[in-house]
Order: sequence, then structure tokens, then C-alpha cells
Amino acid sequence: MRIGVPKETWPGELRTALVPANAKKLIRSGFEIVAETGLGLGSGFSDDAYTEAGVTIQSDRQSVLADADVILRVRKPDVNEISGLRRGVIHISFLDPFNERSLVDSLAAAGVTAISMEMIPRSTRAQKMDALSSQANLAGYVTVIQAAYHSTKAFPMMMTPSGTIRPCRVFVIGVGVAGLQAIATAKRLGARVEAFDTRPVTAEQVRSLGAKFVEIDLGEVGQTEQGYAKALTEEQIALQKEGQKKVIAESDVVITTAQLFGRPAPVIVTRDMIEAMQPGSVVVDMAVESGGNVEGSVLDAVTEIGGVKVIGQGNLPSKVSRNASDMYSNNLLNLIEEFYDSESKQLVLDPEDEIIQAAVITRDGEIVNETIRNLNK
Ligand code: NAD
Repeated sequence: MRIGVPKETWPGELRTALVPANAKKLIRSGFEIVAETGLGLGSGFSDDAYTEAGVTIQSDRQSVLADADVILRVRKPDVNEISGLRRGVIHISFLDPFNERSLVDSLAAAGVTAISMEMIPRSTRAQKMDALSSQANLAGYVTVIQAAYHSTKAFPMMMTPSGTIRPCRVFVIGVGVAGLQAIATAKRLGARVEAFDTRPVTAEQVRSLGAKFVEIDLGEVGQTEQGYAKALTEEQIALQKEGQKKVIAESDVVITTAQLFGRPAPVIVTRDMIEAMQPGSVVVDMAVESGGNVEGSVLDAVTEIGGVKVIGQGNLPSKVSRNASDMYSNNLLNLIEEFYDSESKQLVLDPEDEIIQAAVITRDGEIVNETIRNLNK
């Protein structure tokens, strides 16, 4: 089977879907790999590194795509490139299928077997393919580094002859994969960290990292079967806002990571809460790409509200593109290895398999994923 890897074209995307070490492993298993010139430059891999691994480097993007049996990418495909793909090609990438209905329709019409990395289930078996987690973990780290860079206060406590510097107060809202890494990173830098999530199970995780869980009684909340947060009612959102108001006002840094899978993120930090913070403080909205948790945050911009910097940087994993590429590429390698039949030398995507059922969106001219097919019906 031939794997084609085009260069990412999304503005500012520095990650790559295939790193040379993994290309070498796939070639050893019997794949042929053709990649576009400059594939890994954004994450520090030269064309020569790929060539040494056995990859054929080609400048003709169209043929990288058109001749492939399997295509690997980070970002969703450009809709204009779909007509150039072979029917039956297996296309593996992030796809944003909840918000990209016409793209999904085009992939189905072109007979593409599209695997969406967002839809890999959060199960023990699928953990090694879980690109949402591998990227969110790095995003959680980057967000703290960004907050520290923009903060007028140092994170650790310092006792010096010139005086004592108190530890910076950091409040993390949303304790999923990114939130946990943000807490751990802020703690490592010496901050005093508090955190809140609507899922009660997170309280113990917060405490185990040495941070304080902010108790807010929202009544019945819970989580979905996959472990995702359920949307709060209007009343519960109001209770949350009230409960976190004081903590936000007393924090030097607020980091929001609250997401609802497949839906826009909830707005939980309002302008008046930001105005109650000390000038020089920082708010980082990690959910800015999916609607935003923070009133007034702007994608890829730093805005100021009452002297408080509100950071809306998108694509945080790309800021550590080398690690993010390594991890994402490992996720894809693990996915391929899981479904590769070494005798027939084919990827065998059994429709009965739970990972395939969850992650394959289009196949044989149809939208086969039930959740996506039934959206907006
Ligand atoms: P996510 O990115 O969907 O959301 C981030 C966090 O925001 C979640 O913890 C969510 O509860 C929280 N949130 C939502 N609304 C909120 C609000 N109003 N206020 C505060 N917080 C709010 O989450 P994720 O990082 O993708 O993780 C989702 C779940 O999947 C978690 O339970 C996680 O432990 C689980 N998970 C399991 C595995 C596995 O078993 N293999 C792997 C990764 C994640």
C-alpha cells in the first residue's frame, strides 16, 4: 500500500502527520511512502531526514494525493482537493465533522474512507491512538508558558534580601487532559493553583496534583458514557459564574479549558469578572477556537479589558510542533498498526470494530457514522 503525506497548508500549522522515525517503521512493515517536499520543515525535519528513512520526496502535491491508498494529514482536507483523490482512499486526519457537513458530504460523494481523529473513542484500547489527548496535553503546557510570558508577576515564591515575592495565583477552569497538564505545569513553576470542573470526579485528580479544588454546588451534573461533560442548564451556568467570581477576582492568571464535545464551548468568564481582576493579570481562553469560554477573547489576538490581558491564541500544540508532531505521528502509526494485516499487506477496517465504528465518518459513498449522519436532522 502506498501512503501519501501532503505538506500542511493550514495557516500557521507547523505540525506534520508523519515523522521520519515512524516512516521508517511503516516502510519496514511493507508500506511505500511518498511525501511532499518540505513536509517536516515546520517541526524540524528536513527532506533529507525523510529520504534517509526511505521516503520518496515529491514536489508534485497532486500526485502525492492522487496516487495514495492512504493519506495522512494533521488538518482536514481542502474541499478543492477532494476531487483529486482516488475512490476508496483511506484519509486519516482531524476533520471537525460536527462543523464541516459539506466537507463530509464531499468526502462521501468522492468515495473516500475518511477517519476523523477527533472521533477515536476515549477507551483503554484506543488510548495509544488518542490524538485529542496527545495534543491537548501539550496545549495545556503551552497555555501556562504563554500566561507566564504575559503575566506581570513571576510564578514562584521568592524570598530575597530585597523582599518576598508571593507565588502567583492561577485558577484553571476545566480539568480534562489540557487542564490537568496546565495545573501540573503551573505547579512546577511554583504557582499556587486552584481549579474547577463540572465533573465531580476531577476533584480528586486536582488534589493529587497538589492544587485546590474550588467547590461549587451545581446540583446534578455528571458526564456522558465517553467521560465528556454534559451541558449545564442556564441556572447551573449562573451558579457556576457566581461560585467562581471571587476566585477569579483574586487570581493573577485564569486559564479556561472548558469544552463540550461536538458543541460550542460554554461562555463562563464574563467581562465584569475580568474587570474585577487586578490590572496586569492574564486570562487565557483555551477554548477560543470552539466558540470561547471568555467574553471578549479574540482568536489569535491578545486583547485588554481593564488592564487585564485576554489571550486567545489558537493552535497551541503547534507552538511545540516537534513534540506535537512526534505524538500525533505516533497516534497515526498506532492506528495503522492496529488495523494492518501483515499477510494481505492491507489496512482492514472491520465495520464491526468499535474504533472503526466511532472514527470512520464516510465510506463507500456514504456517511457511515451514525452521530454525524444524524446531525441537524
Ligand atoms: P474536553 O476537552 O472535552 O473538556 C475539557 C474539560 O472541560 C472537561 O474536563 C469538562 O468536564 C470541562 N467542562 C465542560 N464544561 C465546563 C464548565 N462549564 N465549567 C468547567 N469545566 C467544564 O475534555 P477532554 O480533555 O477531552 O477529556 C474528556 C474526558 O475524557 C475526561 O473525562 C477525560 O478524563 C476522558 N479521557 C479518557 C481517556 C481514556 O480513557 N483513554 C483519554 C482521554 C480523556
